[in-house]
Amino acid sequence: MLGNAEKLFTRFLHLSDPWEVTSVKLDDAETRVDIRVRNNGRFQICCPECGGRCTGYDKKEREWQHSDLFDMECHIHCAVDRMKCSKCGKVFMLDVPWAEKGSGFTLLFEARSIALMKDMPVNSASRFLNTKDKTLWRILNRYVDKRMEKQCLKGLTCFYVDETACKRGHRYISVFADDEHRIIFVTYGNDADTVSRFRRHLEEHGGRAEDIEYICCDMGKGFQSGIEREFPGAIVTYDRFHVMEHMSRAVDASRRHEWNVLRENGRLKEATDLKGQRFVLLKNTENLKGFQKSRVDSILENHKEIGIVYSLKESLRDTWSFSNRYDAANHLVAWLVASINTGIGALRDIIKVVDNHFNEILNWFSSGMTNGVMEGINSVIQSVKNRARGYRNWENLRTMCYLRSSGLC
Ligand SMILES: [Zn+2]
Repeated sequence: MLGNAEKLFTRFLHLSDPWEVTSVKLDDAETRVDIRVRNNGRFQICCPECGGRCTGYDKKEREWQHSDLFDMECHIHCAVDRMKCSKCGKVFMLDVPWAEKGSGFTLLFEARSIALMKDMPVNSASRFLNTKDKTLWRILNRYVDKRMEKQCLKGLTCFYVDETACKRGHRYISVFADDEHRIIFVTYGNDADTVSRFRRHLEEHGGRAEDIEYICCDMGKGFQSGIEREFPGAIVTYDRFHVMEHMSRAVDASRRHEWNVLRENGRLKEATDLKGQRFVLLKNTENLKGFQKSRVDSILENHKEIGIVYSLKESLRDTWSFSNRYDAANHLVAWLVASINTGIGALRDIIKVVDNHFNEILNWFSSGMTNGVMEGINSVIQSVKNRARGYRNWENLRTMCYLRSSGLC
């Protein structure tokens, strides 16, 4: 006969026949509650394979961590039955209603920890829940994998892909997204095989490679050859965000070059003035505050080479403001000629980028694939990485990307 406490805990845990709580124990220090559950055998179990009648075979003692109870750690114990089918002989472990198969945590514990991990870094959640972060990662990975199984990529006609550095193990991960800013696939590496893995993933989730009309990417050699191999019919756009990133690097290179020249010539005061100005020089002109604007004006006035590179940056930005591809192409040709004629070393890389990917840059006019998606994805990855202290491997980074931005978790 069950006592009142046992009946109460049976209800707390939402248990029903054949499961019931047989004891609730509080340790002497009152820091831990241990709840024992049993199967009272009042249910006929049928074989999952053949539907035959089953009888008890043996029992296996198991323990699950449950959510804290009044700040006390709470654990559930049960000797779980292994059943044997009298018809086909199959031996199997009974599922328990409070936990997933193979997990050492109850469903409630898992649901609460996932809710926490959506809002805070995993290592903070682990301190809060008094659990190892490795354990929480396992819970989170399983949760996300299960949600991602439901992903449907049927009808996908375009995608974005970008790479990002990853600290441990694999040096890069590649992130694929759709035009609604949802991350649809994450894989290790940044070579052509990442695109092959994406194609496989796409086809496993109802999509078709031949439906892909437009792709927007950073024109790394790997993506380029992967796309030629797996999506030969797609129109590739070299993302504006990345083009301007290369341009920003040129502006900064010219600033550093000038700084070095000044120092070598002993003009230390002017060199120091130039030192902290990276930020204002890379900002878009229209976003500069009054004092920043006058700062930039004085740099451009006093340093001719930086002034030239800066105006080429602004001019390159204009490429995307033309109403049609033809005018933009003329503008870009003029930009190339002007840039080459300056003979400035800092421009070498961006000239190469524009020259080699001239058409892919202009494909924007037909694909309309927006800069915002790529920037959005980048900022998601950045925030995931900022919380990434304690990420053990690229799979955890992937899990976090899916959790934050797949729209499925
Ligand atoms: Zn059977």
